[in-house]
Amino acid sequence: MVCPDVYIYASAKQWDGVARMRLLMRERKISKPPGWSSIEAVGQTHTFFAFDKSHPSSDEIYNFLKELEETMRAHGYVPETKSVLVNLDEEEKEDLLCGHSERLAIAFGIMNTKEGEVLRVIKNLRVCVDCHTAAKFISRIVTRNDTLHKNAI
Ligand code: ZN
Repeated sequence: MVCPDVYIYASAKQWDGVARMRLLMRERKISKPPGWSSIEAVGQTHTFFAFDKSHPSSDEIYNFLKELEETMRAHGYVPETKSVLVNLDEEEKEDLLCGHSERLAIAFGIMNTKEGEVLRVIKNLRVCVDCHTAAKFISRIVTRNDTLHKNAI
């Protein structure tokens, strides 16, 4: 169960409020479901969690995302670090954005499908503003259509 109060506190940078709310959630055994994204490629469904490194192609995926981000920046992409609701410096926030599950799925999809093939990513939580923007840049760069389906659980 997602607790919207945590999001409200974090958005307002009220870190004490976030800490109190997380403690309350732990005490009441309420947990936020982990974010995941999946994509069908190479004949099966591949599911990624945020910052997932369990996939056999994990190293290639992260390297590809790093290269892709450089190209995105050259095309005018600026990471929207407001999407990262934790108290870190800007560079650390940018690193966190690269590990969002939809980016891992998109990267894997690009690496394992033919040029021009449509990628369909399914995810359980909403797409953050930065991943939405990144998907548009990636779509333009690799000439794909971005189709993200939100699938509530
Ligand atoms: Zn994101």
